[in-house]
Amino acid sequence: MEKTRTFTLPKLPYDYNALAPYISEEQLKLHHDKHHQKYVNDANALFANIDEATKTDTQIDYWIKFGYVKALTKELTFNIGGHMLHTIFWENMAQAGKGGGGQPGGAIADTINKEFGSFNNFKKLFSAAATSTEGSGWAVLAMHPCIERPVIMQIEKHNINIIPNFQILLAIDVWEHAYYVDYKNERPKFVDAFWNIVNWDKANKTLDLVK
Ligand code: MN
Repeated sequence: MEKTRTFTLPKLPYDYNALAPYISEEQLKLHHDKHHQKYVNDANALFANIDEATKTDTQIDYWIKFGYVKALTKELTFNIGGHMLHTIFWENMAQAGKGGGGQPGGAIADTINKEFGSFNNFKKLFSAAATSTEGSGWAVLAMHPCIERPVIMQIEKHNINIIPNFQILLAIDVWEHAYYVDYKNERPKFVDAFWNIVNWDKANKTLDLVK
């Protein structure tokens, strides 16, 4: 990622129809262009508020007096978390058969086999985490450079139940907005479909950062 003080919606690393039939063009376009864009816009609006308010002492005093600081910090983690997680999510998918799906290879396969016994065991655990996230959230596989074992996190919203400083290797968005066009209420079907478009090469490249 380049250095920046505000966020912009990243372009998808593939065409809108590349992930079909597992994620349709309509579903992906809506998710990327509308939902991800809103987190970007809202985070930037919060930054603008902070920039404006910190110009004057009176505005800060007003914020503190009316409890806005708490709401603001909470909204920032929600929207920045949303932007970051979606950016990871787009990158950790690829067209089925063209970089997406199949068995993991390389270091990520070794890490998964060592920690979870087999890819099949990992798939079951990760899928269970993804299907059982309460309300809106994510399942991610993450690792810390100083801890020699990966962990599965079940993140609620974009910012709850997340362990600080872990590098996310693989993420699936299980907010309804991620699958409702294609799968209606059937989240497990979407989670099953996800395995056909996982970009293991990208997961290996991210793993290199924490190894
Ligand atoms: Mn989403």
